[in-house]
Amino acid sequence: MNFGYKRSYQGPIEAVLLDWAGTTMDYGCMAPAHVFVEVFKRKGVPITIAEARAPMGAHKRVHIQRISELESVRARWQQHYGRPPNDDDVSAMFAEFVPLQVACLSEYSTLIPGTLEVIGELRRRGMKIGSTSGYLPEMMRVNQEDAKRQGYEPDATVCAGDVPAGRPYPHMCLLNVIKLGVSTVQACVKIDDTVPGVEEGLNAGMWTIGLAISGNEVGMPLKDWQALPAAEQQAKRQRAYGRMQQCGAHYTVDSIADVMPCIDDIQARIRRGEAP
Ligand SMILES: [Mg+2]
Repeated sequence: MNFGYKRSYQGPIEAVLLDWAGTTMDYGCMAPAHVFVEVFKRKGVPITIAEARAPMGAHKRVHIQRISELESVRARWQQHYGRPPNDDDVSAMFAEFVPLQVACLSEYSTLIPGTLEVIGELRRRGMKIGSTSGYLPEMMRVNQEDAKRQGYEPDATVCAGDVPAGRPYPHMCLLNVIKLGVSTVQACVKIDDTVPGVEEGLNAGMWTIGLAISGNEVGMPLKDWQALPAAEQQAKRQRAYGRMQQCGAHYTVDSIADVMPCIDDIQARIRRGEAP
């Protein structure tokens, strides 16, 4: 046999899976960052906003654990307590985190501009809308209610607490596939504002679009971003695009408002027999 034959999916995009904070709501992914800072402050070991954002996208308990593993944070903890942080400390901070996060979610739940228009267009094309989040189910309920009030209601929602492992594992994406009745992972597109969120889609065998400006990478509310001097915007943009491209995202754009040309291009590539 001198030739092999490769099977390729050439059908329509069946589903688009979207992250929540920093992707469809909460421009700048502000809600969780703010609470991580507060929880460490209450422990007497203040952290910077950059330290709070570093593991964004993970399950929130894993996120607290990762912050506590940062060398800079461990050093400050050691100085304050005379020992490094342990698993009990992580559990105690997570227990504090949950009610604080639930209490302030609605302050940050405004939909990101473009969300309703893009969702409307995807639906007009017959695509199903799934979603994944590092939030826990009790947090998602708040976000889902707020989103619905603003006109956004995905067909499926899976949170980190619903599956054995959160991002970058593909579990949440794959549970969406089951819930939405999708025929193959290659017919799915995952959109996310964090590196673990893009990796989650890649690990599930899906097409991915990274959002560089509206989420955790820039980490600013829309008004603050718009008020930045052009040179600062450019520096932040360059860094954010680099991060998204390096993690393997098939496409990187500013925000959800910019994804339709990527969807068109992915559909054309699928028709040509390309796989993610
Ligand atoms: Mg996000």
